[in-house]
Amino acid sequence: MRRTYEDTYQHKGLRKKLIDELKTKGITDEKVLDAINTIPRHYFLDSAFDKIAYEDRAFEIAAGQTISQPYTVAYQSQLLQIKKSDKVLEIGTGSVYQATVLAELGAWVYTIERQKKLYDLQKEYYFRSKYPNIKFFFGDGFMGLPTYAPFDKIIITAAAPFIPPKLIEQLKVGGLMVIPVDEGESQRMLRITKLGDGSVKEEAFEQFSFVPMLTGKNH
Ligand code: SAH
Repeated sequence: MRRTYEDTYQHKGLRKKLIDELKTKGITDEKVLDAINTIPRHYFLDSAFDKIAYEDRAFEIAAGQTISQPYTVAYQSQLLQIKKSDKVLEIGTGSVYQATVLAELGAWVYTIERQKKLYDLQKEYYFRSKYPNIKFFFGDGFMGLPTYAPFDKIIITAAAPFIPPKLIEQLKVGGLMVIPVDEGESQRMLRITKLGDGSVKEEAFEQFSFVPMLTGKNH
């Protein structure tokens, strides 16, 4: 169904309820909650999903990929501790919803997608003029974006089989990377801090379930 971009009182009401639900589930970062409350998530989905766009669940988008669950988006955004003007690399553009949350938080977002079909959809990104601080790239996230490195923060929104070494290289000293790493059926959310001597500190959080991070590009 073709989407009309209308943010009604009903949508706003559902979004408010979602925020309460995220708080109940343990999200405390007010800036992250405000960003989620500001962005109409239903704009990132097919119109057929309008009524359920604010349920706390993932949905299928094009190319067999998903828009992450709001809780997951909030959780990863909170762990990243975004400050205004942070340079952030995102692996897995998907629906652009997570990138939009980061942009609303004031970050400069460099987002990479490996599925050409999804990357091409970004050309019609509704918020292009509102968020000129998002830059889109078609490529393989395992390689990162060496030309634009180093980054203050890196977020991986697909299940990584391991921590990609090139991404550690492209992280600033003192920078943070939030990455769900495979443990079979689900992934453990890790936060990596790059230390002065080039080594890393690793913190482990909850289990999540993402679509896999795959190598190479898919034309
Ligand atoms: N951040 C997205 C979540 C999308 S799901 C959102 O907010 O909607 C994960 C995405 O990661 C998929 O679109 C998938 O194609 C992409 N992906 C998987 N492996 C990748 C890789 N190596 N490089 C770039 N993107 C990748």
